[in-house]
Order: sequence, then structure tokens, then C-alpha cells
Amino acid sequence: SRKLLMIPGPIEFKNEVLQSMAIPTPSHIDPDFIAVFANSLKLLKDICQCPSGQGFIVAGTGTLAMDMAAANLVEVGDKVLVVSTGYFGLRYAEILKRYGADVDILESEVGHIVPIDDVEKQLKSNNYKILAFTHVDTSTAVLNDARSIGALGKKYKVLTILDGVCSVAGEEIKQEEWGIDVVVTASQKAVGVPPGLALLVASPNAIKTFENRKSPVSNYYSDWTNWLPIMQAYENRQASYFGTPPVNLIIALEKSLDLILKEGLEHRFDRHKRAGKAMREAIKALGLELLTKNAETVANTLTAPLYPKNMDAKAFLQVVGDNGIVLAGGLLPELKDNYFRIGHMGSINKTDLLATVGAIETALKRNGYQHELGIGTAQVIKHF
Ligand code: PMP
Repeated sequence: SRKLLMIPGPIEFKNEVLQSMAIPTPSHIDPDFIAVFANSLKLLKDICQCPSGQGFIVAGTGTLAMDMAAANLVEVGDKVLVVSTGYFGLRYAEILKRYGADVDILESEVGHIVPIDDVEKQLKSNNYKILAFTHVDTSTAVLNDARSIGALGKKYKVLTILDGVCSVAGEEIKQEEWGIDVVVTASQKAVGVPPGLALLVASPNAIKTFENRKSPVSNYYSDWTNWLPIMQAYENRQASYFGTPPVNLIIALEKSLDLILKEGLEHRFDRHKRAGKAMREAIKALGLELLTKNAETVANTLTAPLYPKNMDAKAFLQVVGDNGIVLAGGLLPELKDNYFRIGHMGSINKTDLLATVGAIETALKRNGYQHELGIGTAQVIKHF
């Protein structure tokens, strides 16, 4: 039977979202679809709280959204700072280097952020054009202080790129107010749409930087020279074509973004906070440690618990699966079998949390770990 997906993406999608896309595909220039595309672009900016931004919706994954920001903003030799909190920070550094950026990496200790004073010191010491960072690093469950990094970007006139693949629509982002120039994300996590959409919101400053480039963008598919007129055409309710848009996915995107805004961003972020808190308290009550040590900088979209001593990671995940729940293993290569990851974003509810903690308790017990059965689930009841 079908298992509940409690991994950090893809997540469980709402039936309404899935059903919205189960229709014969209209033409990408059908006036009704043009209206859906235009509205999706607007709703995407609403979710990122960036009314002055330019949205981009393109077939692809989160990595393409990261790639697109890099391709369009980097010119060969540009100084770029990556503030890395794990796997996806390092991926961003690799992407930026491909476009000829001269990349410095400030790497955090595992499970921590890079102290904001260290970021400022680094910005002072060099003439950086871009700072890229991960909002929630899915490999560590660390939540970065995006507001402070945005403020530093403004202070030192550095373009900021936020990888929000594991945060947008789950953690608060005030892109415009915080001064973040580019937010990149994807459909399959808290945005609540099956995999296949690269999503991006660029500030006027980012667009200006692109327009003032001295060299052409060295990636054909990502080039905003191709995509910007398309996005603007949809916004102006005009037919246009560069690459065929994933029509059904964009129909689902409009549906999901609409449901997210109907729930209300404040309410939604609060629900994610309560889910995150409930999961962390459950894990702690079971006597397990978290990879993310600091309560101030822990994500609410996923949790990364360390296994108890001598736990067989494979056997543990197997029993969790037998109990109807899919969890994810570790992603940091050096700690792969020392921890696991639980996604809890999107339409996450109490039933999902109880079932998940129940399966974790069962798997711990079956694999020889001693704890009082129910002590974790009690925390879910208490905190959610
Ligand atoms: N950044 C972060 C923070 C992510 O969690 C992921 C996906 N796990 C990505 C980037 C890459 O996204 P995708 O797998 O959709 O390419």
C-alpha cells in the first residue's frame, strides 16, 4: 500500500492540487492558460513578499533555478561569497564557479550557521558582487538568518541570492523588506506541487545587474534574454513562446499558491513552526540528539535527528517503511549513516506527525533501542 512521504521533498500533495492538473492539456497560448500563468507569477511574488520583483516560472528543478540565477548574474572573474551551511551551499559554489566566478566559501560547523559577524567581516575584506546562501539547508536542517544576511547585502552593496528550495512557503521570507535580490525555489517542497518547476523571484536590482552585463549569458536555456520577454508577455496577457511551458504543472501551481495564500502566510508559517517544534520535542523525548544544535537556527520544514549509538541506519529505515512512512537518510557524505531526515512541510497535520513519530518509535524499539513507548507521540499531542 501507499506510504506517507515524510521526506524533505517531494512531499504529500493536496488532492485539490493534483486534481487541478488532471485535465487535457490546453495550449500554452490559450487565453485561459495565459491568465493562469500571469496569476501564478503574481502569486509567486506574494508568497516571497516581493511586490516589486520579477517572477520566473520555468520547467526544471530547484537546481535549474540556482543555475539560472548564477548564469544571469555572474560574469567571468566576479567575486562571489558563498555562505554554506551544508550540501546545498557547496553545490551553489560549484554552480557559480562554472560561470567563471571567483568564489570564496565561508563554511559553517555542521549543524550551525556561519556567525553573522564572520559574514560581515568577510564582506568588509573583499569587494564581492554576489553573496549566495541557503535559507534552509536540507542536508542539516539549519535555518539561516536571512533577514540579517539581506541587511548586510544592502549595507555592502552586494547582490544576495537565497536558495529557498526547502523554505519558500514554509518559513517566513520577506524578500523585499529584507533586501534579498533573488529567491530561488522549486515546486516539490512547501510550494506543494509535483516536481518539475524551477521558480525564481528577482529584485529590480538583480534585473538591472543582468541588463548591464558586458558579456552574453553563457547558458542558452537559462538566459533571461530568452525568458524575461516571455514572463512579461504572460503578465501582459499576450501569447509568446520560447520553450513550451509545463502547462499542467503551472495550472497546479496556481491552485497550490492560491490555497497557500488562502490559509494565510502568517498562519502557515506558524503551523510549520508548531510542526517543527512538535517533531523536535518528540525526538528529544526519545533521547535522540539533533544534528542542529541551536534552537534559534533550526528549520521548521524538516528535522535531522542523530541515530542512537550502534543503530543500523538501513534496518531502522526499513522498519519505518514497514510502518507506512518514508523517511530520508543522511545527506552529508561524512555523516551519511549517522542521522536521518524527516520532512514536515506543506499540508502537514497532526495525523501525519503522530503516524511518523509512531513509526520512529516502533523502528527504534525493533532495533534494540530502549525507550518508553508513546513518550515521543505524547510530545506531538502536547505541541501540535
Ligand atoms: N537547494 C535545496 C536547499 C534543496 O533542498 C534542494 C533539493 N533537495 C535543491 C537545492 C535542489 O533542488 P532540486 O532537487 O529540485 O534540483
